[in-house]
Amino acid sequence: MRTILLGAPCAGKGTIAKLLVDEYNIIQISTGDILRKAITDKTKIGKKADEYIKRGDIDPDPIIMDIMEDRLQEKDYESGFVLDGFPRTIEQAESLDKILTRHQFNLDAVVNLEVPDKILISRLTSRRTCSNPDCQAIYNILHQQPKKEGICDRCQNPLIQRDDETEEAIRHRLKTYQEKTAPLIDYYKKEIFFVSSPALESDTVFDTITHFVNNTRH
Ligand code: AMP
Repeated sequence: MRTILLGAPCAGKGTIAKLLVDEYNIIQISTGDILRKAITDKTKIGKKADEYIKRGDIDPDPIIMDIMEDRLQEKDYESGFVLDGFPRTIEQAESLDKILTRHQFNLDAVVNLEVPDKILISRLTSRRTCSNPDCQAIYNILHQQPKKEGICDRCQNPLIQRDDETEEAIRHRLKTYQEKTAPLIDYYKKEIFFVSSPALESDTVFDTITHFVNNTRH
């Protein structure tokens, strides 16, 4: 099972990815998680990425493609993968096409998660993330609170508001999404494996994806 999740920041890509990982026993590749880990580890890539992320900009394509090539060396994707937050530009999608051809991989689904801007902004400003880079559990101070305020239920580390989740960075991220990432919908729309789904409830999206994959697979 090989899937790409498209959608604006906070559309729910990470949440859906985790449901698909459990259902299909596949791996999740999140370029955002890889970059945050690089920032915590203070690697060369992490230092560059930090500035882009804080501003709410996306990282340059060559950095992202290096990360992806590197990640795919791990060869733990035999039973499949879900790409979360990648590709984010037409150039990345074209590079990914080449990688897929090289590996003789077909895609089962490219899923576009549709969420209105008003809801995205509310979700983004109320989101809190576990500060432990190996956990990164996500909470919401409005309707998915941790048991103890400000502390992760899973690993007991403090919850933080990410640098790219300040109101200014969020507005910039949404603008960047419209300019650079939304054109991917047209890029994939003509493909048989493209599906677009309203994404207000993660269970509904999950059902749409599994139904779609089970009915289009041979
Ligand atoms: P995410 O966790 O997917 O929302 O990613 C957090 C941030 O990492 C984004 O706002 C971008 O700055 C950067 N990032 C993640 N994935 C990519 C990508 N595929 N291309 C460029 N920048 C990315």
